[in-house]
Amino acid sequence: MDNPARPSPLACTSCRQKHLKCDASVPACTRCITAGLPCNYTPSRRGYRGAKRPRENEYHPVYIGHGTSVTTLPTQNPTWTSPTAPSLTGSSVQGGSSNGPGNTYGSTPAMSPNQQQLYPTSFHSSPSSELVDEDELVNLFYSNFFSAHPILVPGSLYYVHPYPEYLRQVVRLIGSHYSSSVSSDSLRASIDLTGHGSTEQKDSSMVQARLLFAIALHARGEAMEAADMMHAAVSLAIEIGMNLRNFATAHGQGNLVQEESLRRTWWELYVMDGYMAALHKRPSFKSNTVHSGVLLPCEEVIYASLGCLPQPPSLEQFDMRLFADEEIQFSSFAYRIEAARILAKVLSVAGTQYEDQVQVVDNALAGWIHGLPQIKADVVNSYNVVDEMLFQGHMIIQCATIYLHLPRSDLLNTLPVTANIVCAERGRHMSPASTQHMHSVKATNASKELANLAAVRVPVQKHTPFFVCGLVLGAIVQLSACSANAGSEQHRDRVTLIIGLLKSLSRNWAISGQVLIQVKKVASEVLQTSNLSSPSVNQQDNTAYDSGISIGNSPSNTSWLSMLNMVENQEFYGLMHLESIYPGSV
Ligand SMILES: [Zn+2]
Ligand SMILES: [Zn+2]
Repeated sequence: MDNPARPSPLACTSCRQKHLKCDASVPACTRCITAGLPCNYTPSRRGYRGAKRPRENEYHPVYIGHGTSVTTLPTQNPTWTSPTAPSLTGSSVQGGSSNGPGNTYGSTPAMSPNQQQLYPTSFHSSPSSELVDEDELVNLFYSNFFSAHPILVPGSLYYVHPYPEYLRQVVRLIGSHYSSSVSSDSLRASIDLTGHGSTEQKDSSMVQARLLFAIALHARGEAMEAADMMHAAVSLAIEIGMNLRNFATAHGQGNLVQEESLRRTWWELYVMDGYMAALHKRPSFKSNTVHSGVLLPCEEVIYASLGCLPQPPSLEQFDMRLFADEEIQFSSFAYRIEAARILAKVLSVAGTQYEDQVQVVDNALAGWIHGLPQIKADVVNSYNVVDEMLFQGHMIIQCATIYLHLPRSDLLNTLPVTANIVCAERGRHMSPASTQHMHSVKATNASKELANLAAVRVPVQKHTPFFVCGLVLGAIVQLSACSANAGSEQHRDRVTLIIGLLKSLSRNWAISGQVLIQVKKVASEVLQTSNLSSPSVNQQDNTAYDSGISIGNSPSNTSWLSMLNMVENQEFYGLMHLESIYPGSV
């Protein structure tokens, strides 16, 4: 694309901060599209006083970048007023199917730069300290959180998309968890998505707001509020028909990026609903009880470059992928959905006494891993970037494996026969002794794989906050194995790694700090105990010692598990409280 030098005021905020040449395309510049970052044509607000910007409820339903302040728009500049928008979908953007009408934002009339100029003066002023915050929080949301839960429009379009203020509040709340200077608590307190009063909108934006808020609440350690919010999100989604195939086209206003965003929202709900069901020990989850006709999401790079296809593949095509004549490439998001569907099967066989049923589900778990195409063999792609969707797919599969096998394993024998924890008797009850060991091996291997995921070199805060729960599950099994095997070094190294990650994650999310305290307590006891040859190490906790069961010849003190009885944290307690997801066997 011809890109003559421009006066700097035309560069977007992001390019200007990085001192890079900006092509000033609208609604988003090429660099921001490629990077998936919010693109914004306001002057840099760092240290900038007196800027004017739109406040709550003033986002115009059409393109009104937030804060396209008059002073920054050199209205006489011919490049700005020329219709540069179509170039957005042209050769400068990779992966785009750019020629169809109404294909992306670029060809949407509402995005015309001329129209944009109709609105530049209607802003109210507000304290500039808030202004600085909002831009930063949106940037933090997109650069840290978005890739783990990519349901909103790509960052480059965030400011031109007519999202309602209540949704933007949730974005700012999540962004604030990656900020050292903004208080999350006051932002959280200002959000009310319960459906009363001003927030009773019944539309997809409300579903998105509730879903993202539920994830944030969970990560903040507000377990019950998170579960309620997720329930509200799923109920509303089903009520307005988001699970139906034609919802996206009917509500996307001919905009392919918005259609893709709506499909992603449904599938994200499905995956998150599954996560929450597993954590809260429910044998099924609501979004899995309705038919999902929604077509599958595309690859993340294609979404970020706004090159969404008008006709994505269906779930039926995915299910037939191994038998089909023509080979369709499915996205990593599609494989993540498949992982959540398998998790649903694991939850549904909870409590069954039949090894055959367990075997069928176990085959599905193995099938997911072996069925990945060659190019998705590694969660780190050829550009050395972690494929977060694939990462989460693996995480779900390994957690599901532990949920399936741990309660049937002889690892349970390391648990003391105290109340509230799956006891040794129940372990024997669940499975014949002959297969218990096999279940232990599978659960232990899965926990090893979780530790391997933890070892992937990536800024850990870019993973979903649900990774905390995967890490805890991995740590529990590793510590059980450690306890049973008198503390091998490998187990110790993995637990050390997991504790390190939980520590890093606790800077962003309270839940990580909560479970970290418990895991550390347990680990120090197990690892200390297993260093010594005497079985009667722990003099302080005689009750637990008395109830401990030793495995084979190994001198193991398992009193550490009884400490988990005292854990008040709902999530952590839930993870340990496996028997309640197996109600049939109690
Ligand atoms: Zn730019
Ligand atoms: Zn930009």
